[in-house]
Amino acid sequence: MPDLKAIFAQIDAMEDEIVAVEQDLVRIPSVNTGTMPTGGETPVAEYVRDFLAADGIESEILSRVPERGNIIARIEGENTDARLMFMSHTDVVPTEEVEKWTYPPFSATIANERVYGRGASDCKALLTCQMMAMRLLKRNGIELEHSLILCSGADEEHGGRYGFGWLADNHPEKIAAPFAVNEGGGTPIEAAGGLTYLLGVGEKGRLQVEFEIRGVSSHASVPWQGTNALYRLSNLLERIEGYEAELDTSTSLFSHLSNFAIEHKPSAENVEEIIDEVQRDNPRFASMLRALSRMTVTPTMINGGVKSNSVPEVINLTADVRTLPHQDDDYLRGELDSIIGDIPGVTYDIDYMAEPNASDFETELADHIKAATALALERDDISWVPAISTGFTDSRFTRPLNIVTYGFSGSHPDDDPMLGRAHGTDESAGIRSLISGTKIMLALACSICGTK
Ligand SMILES: [Zn+2]
Repeated sequence: MPDLKAIFAQIDAMEDEIVAVEQDLVRIPSVNTGTMPTGGETPVAEYVRDFLAADGIESEILSRVPERGNIIARIEGENTDARLMFMSHTDVVPTEEVEKWTYPPFSATIANERVYGRGASDCKALLTCQMMAMRLLKRNGIELEHSLILCSGADEEHGGRYGFGWLADNHPEKIAAPFAVNEGGGTPIEAAGGLTYLLGVGEKGRLQVEFEIRGVSSHASVPWQGTNALYRLSNLLERIEGYEAELDTSTSLFSHLSNFAIEHKPSAENVEEIIDEVQRDNPRFASMLRALSRMTVTPTMINGGVKSNSVPEVINLTADVRTLPHQDDDYLRGELDSIIGDIPGVTYDIDYMAEPNASDFETELADHIKAATALALERDDISWVPAISTGFTDSRFTRPLNIVTYGFSGSHPDDDPMLGRAHGTDESAGIRSLISGTKIMLALACSICGTK
């Protein structure tokens, strides 16, 4: 086993270099609008390739279309079977209202011990840590027993059809490893006098419901001759707003609430009360408990009407729906039918963007992550709980390939997770987390892949 303490000291001394890598990545505006042509992730992939090549690490860029490259790098072990994959993504979401940003979103400005910019936290910080971990393995002459993969995919923010989704369908052998660590977890929570990390073991499903609301058109000067679809829409929106989702505490996080000094055993009956209590000290955690105890139906887009003097015949309403892991298609249809009830002229289609998915919590990978984190942070008082994420990531493509995949980014416990603002204005990454993340990724690679 290499002297990790000595390497951690090197990492502390390399702060400037680590921050510079993060800044370089943020300055490449790989914005994914969801409508082709978009993304432009290839320059990020090329940056990663050149960075790793400087230490003799080989990689290749695979892509469905040339401008949306996916970077896959490997450090070969004595045994060329890979044991671990570092995962991340290279695209970022668009910036709305740039004038509200304190620093220009692609400037990667340093302030308050943070790097500011779109993608700084989602997901270029994790990629930075993983690239640095690979560099340090090489520079310290550490020889692995099993190979290590780094794969950063395009198009994560719009369904992965050019990224991990495409890789899983077309090149599964390139991403084959029993274990992977990705974004989508690793939030530190200081509660009940101790430090707890949320390990991302699974994700809620995300689907899109397209409602069609029909009426009968007529001239707007004689509206009684038609049936205005907007009034039906208004009824439907009122029902959605008033929808009381069934409460459910079956996801794994709820059986670990004692870590947060919540002594009542959670149930559908008392979960609202528990959430209200948590809300006082920890609104972010309360929000997570709320999301994990029910399905959500959120209207997000509307489209309809053809002319200012015509009673509209058709309105389309889009709703974002998030389901818990066991809530299947029948369940969802039952709920939607009960929401619509007797409103005439309403039909819907369901588009599954992401099926709910999860890895087990008791695995060898979890043991390695716990040990690597304790070592890197020099703390022996860390508790771990499994969390189901309310969003989805590329992990939904690797879990069905029998790759145990956890969301864990190695954030530093003193780095307030509220400041990351993924997808928001003034997104940023804490420099402390870039350092702790690099240490944790390095320790993880050594322990999972094995060293000589
Ligand atoms: Zn992301």
